[in-house]
Amino acid sequence: MSKLRFKVVEEAFDRKAIPVEIPSERPEEYYGKYVFNRKKMYEYLPKKTYEALVYAIDNKEPLSRALADSVAEGMRRWAIDNGARHYSHWFHPLTDGTAEKHDAFIEHDGKGGVVEEFSGKLLVQQEPDASSFPNGGIRNTFEARGYSAWDISSPAFILDNTLCIPTIFISYTGESLDYKTPLLRALNAVDKAGTAVARYFDQEVKHVISYLGWEQEYFLVDEALYSARPDLALTGRTLMGHESAKNQQLEDHYFGAIPSRVEAFMLDLEIECHKLGIPAKTRHNEVAPNQFELAPIFEETNLANDHNLLLMSLMAEVARRHNFRVLLHEKPFAGINGSGKHNNWSLGTDKGVLLFAPGKTPKDNLQFITFVVNAMAAVNRHNGLLKASISSATNAHRLGANEAPPAIISIFTGSQLASILDRLENSTDAQLNDLAVKEEITVGLSQIPELLIDNTDRNRTSPFAFTGNRFEFRAVGSSANCASAMLALNAAVADQLNDFKNKVDRRLEAGENLRQALLEEIRILIRESKAIHFDGNGYSDEWKAEAKRRGLDCETSVPKIFDAYLSKESIEMFGRTGVLSRIELEARNEVKWEMYTKKIQIEARVLGDLAINHVIPVATRYQSILVDNLVKIKSLFTEQKASKIIAQDLSTIEKISEHMSVIKEETDKMVEARKVANRITSEREKAIAYHDSVVPSMEVIRYHIDKLELLVDNEMWPLPKYRELLFIR
Ligand code: ADP
Ligand code: MG
Repeated sequence: MSKLRFKVVEEAFDRKAIPVEIPSERPEEYYGKYVFNRKKMYEYLPKKTYEALVYAIDNKEPLSRALADSVAEGMRRWAIDNGARHYSHWFHPLTDGTAEKHDAFIEHDGKGGVVEEFSGKLLVQQEPDASSFPNGGIRNTFEARGYSAWDISSPAFILDNTLCIPTIFISYTGESLDYKTPLLRALNAVDKAGTAVARYFDQEVKHVISYLGWEQEYFLVDEALYSARPDLALTGRTLMGHESAKNQQLEDHYFGAIPSRVEAFMLDLEIECHKLGIPAKTRHNEVAPNQFELAPIFEETNLANDHNLLLMSLMAEVARRHNFRVLLHEKPFAGINGSGKHNNWSLGTDKGVLLFAPGKTPKDNLQFITFVVNAMAAVNRHNGLLKASISSATNAHRLGANEAPPAIISIFTGSQLASILDRLENSTDAQLNDLAVKEEITVGLSQIPELLIDNTDRNRTSPFAFTGNRFEFRAVGSSANCASAMLALNAAVADQLNDFKNKVDRRLEAGENLRQALLEEIRILIRESKAIHFDGNGYSDEWKAEAKRRGLDCETSVPKIFDAYLSKESIEMFGRTGVLSRIELEARNEVKWEMYTKKIQIEARVLGDLAINHVIPVATRYQSILVDNLVKIKSLFTEQKASKIIAQDLSTIEKISEHMSVIKEETDKMVEARKVANRITSEREKAIAYHDSVVPSMEVIRYHIDKLELLVDNEMWPLPKYRELLFIR
């Protein structure tokens, strides 16, 4: 029965590290080899084309058709020189991951043969027959056209001999059907709003840039073991499995020595990343067994996000070369840490100033405080929306579930920033006019750099933490498209900065001086955003109660969390910043609810199958062995002698029966609940029904399967156990 399990465990156990093909050159030579970056543009494009393209990129301006033809020709030559045979628009639909449709470069030559060609028209815009991408009803089937259009700000690259062109994906009527379009809109909005505010401090600022440095956490599982777990293969997580006796309690995995098979995988992955211009820099073991992290050097947010999506596909590919499967699910294993993707986020000017980094002069520090306080105010005002932006069926296991941080957004500032905010808040207008106090504030602010440099009291329980020169949005899930969080955050901050600018300007018009006007508005924001500031233990029950009192969004049901996208504040904020229209928001929520339902539906089906076709038959067989044994013992011994053995066996038989009967009953109940839910036509209501009536049954079924795992003969247990999945390298 368990032949398969023992075979795969042995296979996994015997596996050795796969040698990596290390390039003979150093990273600085092969870095960006497969990217059409400025160096390649310069080499392959006519000088005039090169200059016009660079100008268009730097100034966010459209490219003329003639120019596009010239760029396409150069790009094609470069791609062919590097082994490409196909080209593809590469976009981020509202599913997980990326979409590509490959076309060969060939065109008819009119003489019965072909020539290799690539026109500006095909580079700039395509009409993918993409009617089956989720669109929330925006695109009716009779008007199934969608357009993909070149995003010149993210360079083309070659992946698997295909020239990939990063594009946005929109409907015939111009609504976004992807993540990139609203992300680019949000980045434009924060650029405009941020620049206007940054000019209070430096008239020459032309742009404010949003930066993102993501930290990708993941698990690795041996391929043979993975293939013997239908739940992992079909849902990305284990739907059953009793905790291993040893898991992370010794804390011996975090930053520990990297196993050689894994190290080979990491090296291989890094080389691939570097060839594709992804600045992978940091790698280490994470807290849970077989959990790891990769982090690059931070980049402009749109590019960083493209790189993260590219990385996720690269990881899957490279893992297979090393006989691993990579798990990007937020909670592949119960009882041990889940995986996130901390989004380190900051704003900076085109002159190289990081706006969340304290400066050297009081003026710099006023700018620092201005931006930090506005970011905090935006997160406070839109905490429900930001939670929605990171919520999904999979991330739900990481946030708001048992053994997970609560589903509440709060900001950790650390004690030093907290005391600066405190001091600013409590200085009155009169004091501000008093020179002595003014100096004290000036001095206080100018001390920030020294203070924050050793600001090491990192709070790991906070979903949104200030870490010296940036904020870390830690609630983002490991499988997520960062754009979801980044577009909401940047849009919210842009809107807040616009509001701030208006208010400060009004004060200036009324005759206040700049410093006074800024400090006055800063103080108002500090007061308004008190609720979001929490430096305590985010995992504690007291915090849940406290957060509720403070009026923070405490909803834990993912389908209801999505409602925040359609709140009045969200619709208005997205409308004012031009990031998403109401129609887009409504359509995208339809997609979110539908995706939620489908994910739970798949999990429920897989679990039902495992319960009824894998676990119950084995448990029945083991039970009947015990029954046989009991009969034999009865016939062999006197009643008195046999009674103890019989009592023990009977008790095990009874326990097995009880677990089996709950599993069967609950599986029937779950199937019934699905049937009821499936009849609901509203996507929102259907998702809620899945959340309320299907998910709880899954938890009950799992509980009893895991109990059976402890009772049934190890030899018979059909699926690889946690101790095998997590500790075999
Ligand atoms: P941690 O100690 O938080 O685990 P890591 O070194 O793993 O730190 O990751 C930190 C990430 O934050 C890196 O991607 C790094 O480039 C990025 N980062 C550093 N400074 C900034 C910044 N100002 N803005 C955005 N990202 C940043
Ligand atoms: Mg971090």
